[in-house]
Amino acid sequence: PANKDLLVHINGKLVHRDEAKVSVFDSVVQGGDAVWEGLRVYDGRVFSLEEHLDRLFDSAHTLAFQGIPTRASVRTAIFETLKANNMTDGVHIRLTLTRGDKITSGMDPRLNQAGCTLIVLAEHKPPVYPPTITLITSSVRRNSPNSLDSKIHHNNLLNNILAKIEANHAGADAGLMLDKDGYVSEANGVNVFLIRNGVVRTPYADYCLPGITRRTILRLCVEHNIPAEESRISVSEFYTADEVFTTGTMGELTRVAAIDGREIINKQDGSLLDQLNEIFAALTKVGGTPIE
Ligand code: PMP
Repeated sequence: PANKDLLVHINGKLVHRDEAKVSVFDSVVQGGDAVWEGLRVYDGRVFSLEEHLDRLFDSAHTLAFQGIPTRASVRTAIFETLKANNMTDGVHIRLTLTRGDKITSGMDPRLNQAGCTLIVLAEHKPPVYPPTITLITSSVRRNSPNSLDSKIHHNNLLNNILAKIEANHAGADAGLMLDKDGYVSEANGVNVFLIRNGVVRTPYADYCLPGITRRTILRLCVEHNIPAEESRISVSEFYTADEVFTTGTMGELTRVAAIDGREIINKQDGSLLDQLNEIFAALTKVGGTPIE
């Protein structure tokens, strides 16, 4: 079916999108108290499924959710949703697990006595390829591990949304977000990499989400003998890089043309980013878990 007719899975039931509703007492409404994953389906295979399930369950455990569905049942819910919608390719899945329904409104997790709410929302959203994007350095800092650990993939996206609003007003595609010391962390919703003199670099995953695409790129670099490192990186190192790109499940690898009006100028012959794009695209043609 088209996106307007798609079926959404909520707690074991597949319902038409118009009927796909959670309670106003749900913890996600009351406090953004939920965790989520975005996944992609390529040609009948769910890409990096187990890595996404690891991050989902680690996040739910860290937030001390009770009544978490089993890993097997979440996997089954994903496959059932894809089959019910006859979806095999060009699909983006938004998997959400909330702390669940509360007996009354409020913040206290003890008000949740019904167990978690599981939502599988699969849509036709093939990766779109803007040829390039632009970034501005955001005044909004990424959450510190002191306040909200970036390793939890939670639904409290206000930090990123504020950075996106700022980028929108500046006419840029996304905001480059720094840590509390002024080093680059990530952009709102995607990880960032630079390439300089043939070396691929990305910030440590202290303040940024440890993205699965990020990790895949670092692994592919090792496998293809491309020097790659995690390190502390300043904004000027990004301005003066040969190539800059973002990574994420939704947009895969995307080239950054300019940051704060500074054009990213490739001083090398040839493009290592083009090579990485080919290597990643080859993986999407074979990798992933077949839909059962
Ligand atoms: N950073 C943030 C804040 C994100 O929300 C996402 C996407 N969920 C990413 C980075 C990219 O992560 P992944 O490669 O796992 O999609």
